[in-house]
Amino acid sequence: MTALVWFRNDLRIADNPALAGAADSGKPVVAVYILNQERAWPLGGASRVWLHESLSRLSESLLNLGITLLCEQGQPDAVLATLIEELQVSEVHWNREYDPDGVAESSGVKSRLGEVCALHSHAGGLLVEPFQFLNKSGEPYKVFTPFYKSIRARLDYFEIPSVAPGWKQQRLEVRGGSLEQLNLLSGRAWEQEIRRQWRIGEAGAWESFERFTNVALEAYGLERDFPARPSTSQLSPHLHFGELSVQRVWTHLAERQASIDFAGQEEQIWSWLRQLVWREFSHHLLYHFPTSAEQPLNARFTEMEWSEDITRLALWQKGRTGYPLVDAGMRQLWQTGWMHNRVRMVVASFLTKHLGIHWLQGARWFWDTLIDADLANNTMGWQWVAGCGADAAPYYRIFNPTLQSQKFDADGGYIRRWIPELRNLEGKELHEPVKAVSAGVVNYPQPCVDHREARQAALDRYQEIRG
Ligand code: FAD
Repeated sequence: MTALVWFRNDLRIADNPALAGAADSGKPVVAVYILNQERAWPLGGASRVWLHESLSRLSESLLNLGITLLCEQGQPDAVLATLIEELQVSEVHWNREYDPDGVAESSGVKSRLGEVCALHSHAGGLLVEPFQFLNKSGEPYKVFTPFYKSIRARLDYFEIPSVAPGWKQQRLEVRGGSLEQLNLLSGRAWEQEIRRQWRIGEAGAWESFERFTNVALEAYGLERDFPARPSTSQLSPHLHFGELSVQRVWTHLAERQASIDFAGQEEQIWSWLRQLVWREFSHHLLYHFPTSAEQPLNARFTEMEWSEDITRLALWQKGRTGYPLVDAGMRQLWQTGWMHNRVRMVVASFLTKHLGIHWLQGARWFWDTLIDADLANNTMGWQWVAGCGADAAPYYRIFNPTLQSQKFDADGGYIRRWIPELRNLEGKELHEPVKAVSAGVVNYPQPCVDHREARQAALDRYQEIRG
């Protein structure tokens, strides 16, 4: 008899309750990852690259423990049913996911296989499980601040389950799908770039976390909005794929609060932990409002009319809107698979408000191009900026892309990095290169819309919705 671990977005050895549970069973352990391309949001291009690399790292780490990782495709209940029979599995362990597809997969497995073998689902991806964390009226939180306060008051240290020190089994020879059979890579050049630029996998995730806490955390709250500075952790893809557990990160920082020696340390640490609570909040929202990945949380917005201008959509996607900060962000995304949070807000505001294009168009583009594409965070980010989400930005907040650029990239380091054709411009001209473009000094597009006119048109549309 064997114990099977079904890996999902928890591609790590440390603090993995499902893996620890299987190892504790005393039975030989086999692991499987199941790629389900029938999900409502099948993996985007950038995520496929990350997943390939991460599975490869995980497979190596598991082999060191004597565990083989099989890589299969299909509906999890069907794949697991086959493996249970072939490998004489008597128990299956997995960590719960909270997005609609993740929930449906677990339910499918339970209803089909509950009678066949022992099934153990564990809490693995969040600080608190959404169904355990409701407001005083027993309702899901829809406003961030009380959610944050409540989590902050309640949480401290977590118990970190791990495979027992020194645990190693005699390797079982099992046959099954290989990583290559998943065909996650297409062979295009940008895939190599992503693999070159990021240290994918559990070891890289922990290294990035340590580097961040040793260096940038000290000034996080002060620096986090400036995209040219290496001031944020860039842990989002690692957290999304579960190479690093949020409970471990949280506990580690709680332990270090006492030993980190810089002024205002607690404030800086909390300003970062607060971002982890945003992540938590978005996952809780998607769990409680599972249609929100496609539908506005604020029902009034179903009436909203959106532009279908695909030419402008393409200008935005390619980073050729004529607004330097927007274009720099979209080019950073294309070239690295990642974009700074401040710039994500600016480009999302530009698409939905200046261009009047549906937030779902933006969410889908991000889904395909982001290495940290995460249904909960992406949905909440887009709905928040578009003004139709829970606790959303007020409808009249329309980022002025030029002012944002002057404020958060004052010396233009970010713009010059991603838009080399503007690198010789200085000061106001760099943020608003209209004259330089007209004079033929630089080969860069003129603004695709006039800021004032676009802003007014957006305000008019939003006023209509407000009634
Ligand atoms: P840090 O500033 O170091 O924050 C630490 C961690 O907290 C992040 O890794 C992330 O897991 C979490 N976090 C930070 N900010 C947010 C936030 N606003 N909402 C939820 N969680 C947050 N994040 C994703 O992980 N995946 C997405 O698909 C995604 N799409 C977004 C779309 C839009 C339109 C917007 C405005 C934001 C989106 N975000 C998304 C949130 C945020 O931009 C990224 O998490 C952040 O930029 C990642 O950088 P970091 O790891 O350096 O963050």
